[in-house]
Amino acid sequence: MVNIIIFGPPGAGKGTQANNLVNDFNLFKVSTGDLLRDKIKKKDQLGVKIKSIIDRGLLVKDDIINDLIESILSNKNYFNRLIFDGYPRNFNQARHLDILIKKYYQKISFVFNLKVDHDVIIGRIIGRLICSNCGLTFNEFSNPSTKENHQCHISFLQKRTDDNEKIARNRLETYTKETLPVLNYYQNQNLLYEIDGMSHIHEINKEIRRIIQSLET
Ligand code: AMP
Repeated sequence: MVNIIIFGPPGAGKGTQANNLVNDFNLFKVSTGDLLRDKIKKKDQLGVKIKSIIDRGLLVKDDIINDLIESILSNKNYFNRLIFDGYPRNFNQARHLDILIKKYYQKISFVFNLKVDHDVIIGRIIGRLICSNCGLTFNEFSNPSTKENHQCHISFLQKRTDDNEKIARNRLETYTKETLPVLNYYQNQNLLYEIDGMSHIHEINKEIRRIIQSLET
């Protein structure tokens, strides 16, 4: 039983790897980005506010995120079976996660950092397509949806509103300033595993699985 953090810049493939690990280890994925996009769909005042932050490539306020995370960590069905994708995004969130982890008698077992060159990232973000039916992520150029890897109709494939070059550059800047320093926090706790995020999707999954299986207690 493990809680895992998938760390890395936008477009590094965190969601894709998290989806694979959900299947491999029977985990529940917590994507704060997905949870925020669900809030936007409600089109209420909070949704409008969240959209305006996401469309500028900035971080949504920590108290909104912390509440979302507590509602999940407190759920006994997910006890020590979570994989965090896109969270924590700054020191405050990392510290708050530790408080919640203790409060609900759980632990973080692994933090996997997907390393990808920043010039590759913009191309990946621009090509990203998400299936609104099953949630799988594809890339027009490097990992297209095919009959072999995807059962849903192509009409379900959508682009995210923040997946354009201008916002992608802002997101990358936010990542470098606010998120990247959090790696030290996990390095100091000996939880950090560096992964080559530029290799093939299946190779990355194999490497992460190897590490989990060799150390799982
Ligand atoms: P993602 O789907 O992880 O790429 O996130 C999309 C956007 O949602 C980010 O650019 C942020 O604006 C917002 N977001 C996602 N997760 C967080 C988080 N943990 N803290 C603050 N903002 C977040």
